[in-house]
Amino acid sequence: MFDIHSHTQYSGDIPAGKGNSVRELCLSAIEKGLTGIAITDHFDIDGIRDGFFPPLDHESVARDIMDAKEEFKGRLTVLHGIELGQATHMPEESHEQLRSQPYDIVLGSVHAVRGIIDFYDTDMTNMPQSEYVALWELYLKEMLDTIEWGNFDVLTHITYPKRYYLRDGITDFPDIKGKGREYFEPILKAVIDKGITLECNTSGLRQNIGECLPNRDLLEFYYELGGRDITLGSDAHKAIDLGAGFVEASEMLREIGFRYLTKFESRKKDFYSIQEDIK
Ligand SMILES: [Zn+2]
Ligand SMILES: [Zn+2]
Repeated sequence: MFDIHSHTQYSGDIPAGKGNSVRELCLSAIEKGLTGIAITDHFDIDGIRDGFFPPLDHESVARDIMDAKEEFKGRLTVLHGIELGQATHMPEESHEQLRSQPYDIVLGSVHAVRGIIDFYDTDMTNMPQSEYVALWELYLKEMLDTIEWGNFDVLTHITYPKRYYLRDGITDFPDIKGKGREYFEPILKAVIDKGITLECNTSGLRQNIGECLPNRDLLEFYYELGGRDITLGSDAHKAIDLGAGFVEASEMLREIGFRYLTKFESRKKDFYSIQEDIK
């Protein structure tokens, strides 16, 4: 099984001295029975420009991944990836970055909407309802714009802001249970039309949200709409979290009807059968 979403010590959201090296992630992946991992450190392009997100040392990441590809050949497929945040805020520069390295996989993420910093850093505790509903709607619009921009392989962790609404005590936020399908229908249809892979991000299973991003209902809806192109990402920021929740998530995907997962190499997709061979 492939974990297509992981972060090393180079990732700007990991404090200095914390996090793991590419090599440590690879060793942990082998121990956990994974067959491949993608190293996808954060590159939130607008946040870096505006100075609230640390830059990424692309050369060091590339060198360490190259070394790991060599060292673990035959034991683990190591993919050179990137998690590109808010590409549409700087589309030309985003294209430029993607041309500058031989990426195997590009994750497209929306962590922030125009004019606000990452939902992670946004305190919504005392925000009036009209404002957080408007933010949610902007988030959906940003995702559609990102899909339209299109130079990426996997759309990550849709419903991401839900985590932070819940963290900030907003429980009546745009009701994902009742309106999730309405909200996400255009996004899921656009993903299918564009041939972009949808990520089932398992990080929520180890956080307060307690479910994958997106949740089961939206994954079922994606399947009903004809979506079959799905991949698993742990979003591990520590080696120990690689592959976390994959047994549970892959069982859920199988129950929904999915039979294959998607993996990448040199930005070309390939499919493999959903397995349970993970510890
Ligand atoms: Zn992310
Ligand atoms: Zn991530």
